[in-house]
Amino acid sequence: MERINWLEFREFVPEKIDTVLLPLGTIEPHGVIPNGTDIIAPLEIARAIAAEVNALVAPVVPYGFTGILDAYPGSFTIPEAVYRDYVRAILRGLAWTKFRNIILLNGHGGGQTAILAALAQEVGRETRTRMLVANWWSHCADVVREVYGEDGGHAGNSETAYIMAVDPSLVHQSRYTGKEMATAIPAANTWSAYPFPSSILLYTEGEGLPVFDQAKAKSYFEKVNRKMAALITETIAKWDAAEV
Ligand SMILES: [Zn+2]
Repeated sequence: MERINWLEFREFVPEKIDTVLLPLGTIEPHGVIPNGTDIIAPLEIARAIAAEVNALVAPVVPYGFTGILDAYPGSFTIPEAVYRDYVRAILRGLAWTKFRNIILLNGHGGGQTAILAALAQEVGRETRTRMLVANWWSHCADVVREVYGEDGGHAGNSETAYIMAVDPSLVHQSRYTGKEMATAIPAANTWSAYPFPSSILLYTEGEGLPVFDQAKAKSYFEKVNRKMAALITETIAKWDAAEV
């Protein structure tokens, strides 16, 4: 969207293109991959699938609502109320510019996921647009198991693979010292800590550690992009069929 002019935009939207992909990230530590992993990944997904789903890519929302990891160097959070108001204004703006389908490609978990789900419903209802919030790493959990034979992790196999496929120079394997850099996410009501003691968080104990394999990374990247495109295409087709 930021690379075309208003005359082009008028020609495209909404007659030829009525879907927009909005990548949303945050700045937080990710083991030995970039603090901006949650920005880079959804932006790359958007770029990879935009033509396939006939969508424009909106400028990324880089800053987000970071939780238990914001004490690490280079990380911080946007206060929840400010983030909520800012993203609400962006969603209203995308509806105002005549998009009918607004696809939020979220790169960051924690509390941000719930905020986006609530805003999608609120602004979708208010503006009569159709909104899909897709948390790529969760939606593609089965792809991690398919490629790596185990569950994923924050800054573990899945995100490391995606970043390796985008730009291997951003992945610093030489700084990885092994499983002591990771902690399994505690079961509900067992314990919690701020700051969380590791920036690599495993969804399942003993699984999901970073794997530095370029061929597997490329395979994971392609399968994730295909699965994300399918989710968007199928959701829009069902909206159309239901005439909502
Ligand atoms: Zn992440």
